[in-house]
Amino acid sequence: MTRKFEGDRLLVATHNQGKLEEIADLLKPFGVTVVGAKEMHLPEPVEDGTTFVQNARIKAHAAAKATGLPALSDDSGIEIDALDKAPGVYTADWAETETGRDFGVAMEKSYRRIQESGTPAPWTARFCCTLVLAWPDGHDEVFPGVMEGQVVWPMRGDQGHGYDPIFQPVGYEITFGEMDRWEKNKISHRADAFRKFVAGCFGD
Ligand code: IMP
Repeated sequence: MTRKFEGDRLLVATHNQGKLEEIADLLKPFGVTVVGAKEMHLPEPVEDGTTFVQNARIKAHAAAKATGLPALSDDSGIEIDALDKAPGVYTADWAETETGRDFGVAMEKSYRRIQESGTPAPWTARFCCTLVLAWPDGHDEVFPGVMEGQVVWPMRGDQGHGYDPIFQPVGYEITFGEMDRWEKNKISHRADAFRKFVAGCFGD
């Protein structure tokens, strides 16, 4: 049985303002006030897990313990089957350069590695998003979301962020980079995880 969220303040364990606003909007109908990690001066914990669930748990538990509030975190990335599910939890790391993150570099690296693997197209892949809600007493609930699709080359589209220009979701001829934001936010891995979170922790 999933534990329900019954308070009126939820800590969102992210330093990303965009994510915070998205979550605040989503939880407005439930009368929940969302508080960000920056506002609470929380440090960013080291994400040294090897799965999305582990990393999301690290972030949610650290925040719940530090603040005494229930805390929600997410961890996401792309798994490419031809690369044995890499980059996975290292999705953002593949974009690191000496001058900051560059997702063009990350997408080229993905394509080069696929070519080196000799795997013929279609290159099946999925975006994953795991949400974890942790309580200060150590209990947590985990909600995994997925969007299946394939990696395509060359990059297409300038909407979205991250690896969107090389990801074509199942049932579409366009990439996430070519899709309008509203449409993407309806079908994405994050939307899938959020639907499960709301049904689990706020449903009847
Ligand atoms: P996180 O903030 O540690 O979860 O980083 C996940 C990384 O996965 C991000 O930096 C993005 O590059 C990538 N990612 C996650 N979701 C998406 C998406 O919807 N589109 C494109 N890239 C994504």
